[in-house]
Amino acid sequence: MIKTINELVASDFCTGCGACGVVDEEIKFTFRDDKGLSLPDTSGLTQQELAKASEVCPFLHDNPRYTHFEQNSAGLEYNPLVGYFHKIVVGAIRDPLDRSRSTSGGMTTYVLRRLLEKRLVTGVIHLAQNPNTNGIENAFEYRLSRSIEEVESARGTKYFPGSLKELRHLLERDDESMVIVALPCFIRGIRLLTKNDDECRKKIKYTISLVCGHLKTANFTKYLAINAGVSPNDSVSKIEYREPVPGGNAHDYRASFTVGATERSSEKKHTLPTKELYAENWAYGLSMPNICSFCDDVAGENADLTIGDAWIPPYDSDPRGTNIAIVRNLELLDIIQEQGLDTVEVGVDDFVHSQAGSFRNRREGVLYRSATNRVEIPTTRVSQLKIFDSIEDREYKSRSSVHQALRGHESLISTLKFRDFQLFKFKTFYSITIYQFQKNGIRALLPRGLKKLLKTIMTNQGSSAAINSRKVYIKNHDI
Ligand SMILES: Cc1cc2nc3c(=O)[nH]c(=O)nc-3n(C[C@H](O)[C@H](O)[C@H](O)COP(=O)(O)OP(=O)(O)OC[C@H]3O[C@@H](n4cnc5c(N)ncnc54)[C@H](O)[C@@H]3O)c2cc1C
Ligand code: SF4
Ligand code: SF4
Repeated sequence: MIKTINELVASDFCTGCGACGVVDEEIKFTFRDDKGLSLPDTSGLTQQELAKASEVCPFLHDNPRYTHFEQNSAGLEYNPLVGYFHKIVVGAIRDPLDRSRSTSGGMTTYVLRRLLEKRLVTGVIHLAQNPNTNGIENAFEYRLSRSIEEVESARGTKYFPGSLKELRHLLERDDESMVIVALPCFIRGIRLLTKNDDECRKKIKYTISLVCGHLKTANFTKYLAINAGVSPNDSVSKIEYREPVPGGNAHDYRASFTVGATERSSEKKHTLPTKELYAENWAYGLSMPNICSFCDDVAGENADLTIGDAWIPPYDSDPRGTNIAIVRNLELLDIIQEQGLDTVEVGVDDFVHSQAGSFRNRREGVLYRSATNRVEIPTTRVSQLKIFDSIEDREYKSRSSVHQALRGHESLISTLKFRDFQLFKFKTFYSITIYQFQKNGIRALLPRGLKKLLKTIMTNQGSSAAINSRKVYIKNHDI
């Protein structure tokens, strides 16, 4: 069993979340091109220091899973797929212009804004574009926003690995009371941190988790940049990951890079529809840290509020995007129920359905990978179950090969060179083709337009039955 953070890093299961760096400032983080992550170096630590820093790592088996809600669960319901909760809602900001500025409904920015306006917090810690760099490695950083303008300027999903290692410096004043936005594993790290650290416990008042399919390393942004026609010498001033595509639905979006003016040219915006990218299929796990293959927390189970995309009918046909949210804190529930948001209450099934692919992969998929992996892996709730035999493994087997091929050759996209990118395609094409063939048979060889047409016909002819039977599967395995 992996017991300490140095074993975790050595096994390539670290996301670089930075929680251990908050405990021990001696831990230095170095960016690794081949991993696309900034990873901790624990070499100078004593055994005692190592053990203390390990207490906050979200991926070590001995660290408690629910560090907050088990002690504060009065009035909360519990469900094994989404954790503790008061209410689950679907909705968006009521004001159409305001809504259009966010990724998927704007609920996150609305809540952050209202927390500041109601003076329930002194600041917001979230990921925002780093104004001090043109490079991609540190294009985004966790920032402290104290004004509504600052909160609004950080709108939008960032498929980028942040690090909380500077968290203590952001909690600068004695009277701070903060809200943090982060991914589920980061929130677990924060909960572990606040358990034993008086300063963090006092100053971090609310936690908001984004629903998480998986993390993308910094190499993903390089990959988008190469495909969008950004050259290695360009000075990128703004990156957007999810701009709506005109005429599309909630699943259609494009990335954009704004390149600063030079002596020869004016400012230019490069865009590309993400669906057209080679290996874009979220199931392939392009530029995904290895640990995400073993993570079973889709719903940000440790956060006061979890917000994601309502990828269920009728909401998923709206290109502006609509949120789905799990509320675990009554003060935040008051904000969610304000007139500024247009919300309706839904059930756990709706949440699970909205993330159906993710739940399958993070229950069946984690089970399969845990049972078949030859190296030691961090233990999860799911991997401890012994129901592996009941799972159809073919898809997960070829999916793992695709992930390993893409991750294994990730250094080729880190160079931002077109020639290396072509080599990356060449080296990973075989695994992707096998996966596609196993999943779609002969349809895998059809041109994109024809495939789309067939999919529309099949969706209209009862694939909802298939979705429902999958839902039943997940329900019957409440894990
Ligand atoms: C890596 C990743 C994977 C995701 N996977 C899924 C998924 O599978 N299913 C799903 O339903 N939703 C997923 N989401 C969440 C989704 O993309 C939206 O971020 C979410 O629905 C909030 O939308 P919004 O319109 O309310 O946010 P906005 O109003 O646009 O505000 C977004 C807020 O989140 C902060 N933020 C953005 N990215 C990060 C980040 N990486 N770390 C910390 N803070 C950040 C911003 O600073 C801003 O304050 C994912 C997000 C990320 C970053
Ligand atoms: S706490 Fe975060 S950065 Fe530190 S070892 Fe664990 S995952 Fe990596
Ligand atoms: S999938 Fe899990 S491990 Fe990966 S970033 Fe999301 S919450 Fe963290």
